[in-house]
Amino acid sequence: MKRTGVFYHDVCGKEAYSSLAMGVEEGFQSIQKEGIFSQPNVTWYESEPATVEQIARLHSQEWIEQVKQTQWWRVSLYSVGGMIGATEKVLEGEIDNALVIAGVGGHHAHRDSAWGGCYFNVIGLGIPHARAKSLGKRFAIVDTDTHHADGVRDLYKDDEDMLHICFCDTFSWAYNSDDRMESKTKFCFPHGASDEEEIRNVEREVPGRIKEFKPELIFWLCGMDTHQDSYGTAALTEKAYPRLAKIIKKTADDYCGGKLIVKTCCNTRPHATRYIIPRIVDCLAELGKYPGE
Ligand SMILES: [Zn+2]
Ligand SMILES: [Zn+2]
Repeated sequence: MKRTGVFYHDVCGKEAYSSLAMGVEEGFQSIQKEGIFSQPNVTWYESEPATVEQIARLHSQEWIEQVKQTQWWRVSLYSVGGMIGATEKVLEGEIDNALVIAGVGGHHAHRDSAWGGCYFNVIGLGIPHARAKSLGKRFAIVDTDTHHADGVRDLYKDDEDMLHICFCDTFSWAYNSDDRMESKTKFCFPHGASDEEEIRNVEREVPGRIKEFKPELIFWLCGMDTHQDSYGTAALTEKAYPRLAKIIKKTADDYCGGKLIVKTCCNTRPHATRYIIPRIVDCLAELGKYPGE
């Protein structure tokens, strides 16, 4: 069994960005309700707030000051802090993998600006922290949110030690794997119109590229706005997400010693996050609590 950490602070649930993070608190509580924290290999780490110094590794002082004036400052700090804590503990080997439950998005955050419920680049901020502490150099980010990860792509466009595999619907293009290759480490692929197609696309594009790139850790941005009751592609049922988790976890197990951090802001309805979140933890920690699903 794997040692799995769940990174969450109550601020992320109580002060979640309203229209996006519909099911954050419900998602976390569902892990408790399912009794998963009583498993010896699953630990809740209460996220600590990130420091300005940690955030300034990717963002300008001007932008940090601007976010400080908003009601999203505190939840942003705790969301980034969860990512930083998870990155450190997985790379130091205290745990094998982690789930970070954030109260805001992040992948639309650039150095000086952001949109769409994002303020700081939550998923992107683990990498400079790992490098600053000499815990790792080469990383992959797999993003299955509906929307193009413009902020992550922008911040890492010249970084050939970061493999970015982004599933998005921003562009329309024929499904040819060369069409959305921006460099040999930056890719975009279309979403599926059903559970089966989404899973097929991820299966087709992720494991092989991770195998070739050899990252030290995979970050998976598990966007849930692809769910049928959310505001994105509305193509997937809740059953798709544990299946995506299995593919990505196996990829991490096969090619980077199991090191995997899943980040989500639970951006679908509570009834769906209640189903999805415990099953993602079940997969990460290899509990086998939901056989046959
Ligand atoms: Zn989205
Ligand atoms: Zn994209």
